Amino acid sequence: MSNLKFGFNFDILNLLIRMTDITKKIIIAIDGYSSSGKSTIAKEIAKILNYKYIDSGAMYRAVTLFAIRNNFINKKHIVDEDSLKKVLDKIKINFRYNSNKKQQETYLNSENVEDEIREMEVSNNVSFISRLAFVRKELVLLQQKLGLEKGIVMDGRDIGTVVFPNAELKIFMTANPEVRAQRRYLELKEKNIDVSFDEILENVKKRDYIDETRDESPLKRAVDAVELDNSNMNRQEQLDWIVDLVNKKIN
Ligand code: C5P
Repeated sequence: MSNLKFGFNFDILNLLIRMTDITKKIIIAIDGYSSSGKSTIAKEIAKILNYKYIDSGAMYRAVTLFAIRNNFINKKHIVDEDSLKKVLDKIKINFRYNSNKKQQETYLNSENVEDEIREMEVSNNVSFISRLAFVRKELVLLQQKLGLEKGIVMDGRDIGTVVFPNAELKIFMTANPEVRAQRRYLELKEKNIDVSFDEILENVKKRDYIDETRDESPLKRAVDAVELDNSNMNRQEQLDWIVDLVNKKIN
């Protein structure tokens, strides 16, 4: 007799059963270092809870791509702030779900830029754009609007400290730089983006430094955030850990 296949993911069912009141909507803020796995976990939690997922880093990347295309940032990473400021209100960023690829994709003025914003040229410039106060002000407003109805998981650098200081659950994710660079390397290889491990490691460390030491909303753990160092944790262990936290908050 053949085995019966129910075509159902029992892991997810199990997680849902453990969440006794999933109708109460909260805000989940996930901050942390580059490539610490924030977005993977944030997406999965949003799926389980049927929440909106917003990748705030993609917004900074989209503005960076716009700046590169318009020559508002030069090879030495010096930004023509006046020119960027003048056209900032012309930059429209939104997200749409691609049902074929089963992923949310970033749109810049109606153009799908999901792949382009992950390229090294954008990664190497994004910290120089994200440290500008006028850029942050606009993007934070947009992020806060997206969270008005709660039921949202947002990941970034300042979500628990600036965007949603009253978020019901704040998580600060970290892992050692080599582990993070290796994850990013595999991710980019999968997308056929040609880049070396050393180049990524250097970029990860450089971004950590700029993100942590900038004047505007530096990357730091909110006092009420729970830290998750996932250097030695697999995806399921991280998910279980967060689901338990969500469960405590919701109930
Ligand atoms: O999350 P991701 O690595 O894609 O973010 C790209 C960059 O965007 C970060 O290195 C950081 O400079 C900036 N960022 C930020 N604040 C956020 C999200 C991202 O400054 N909330």
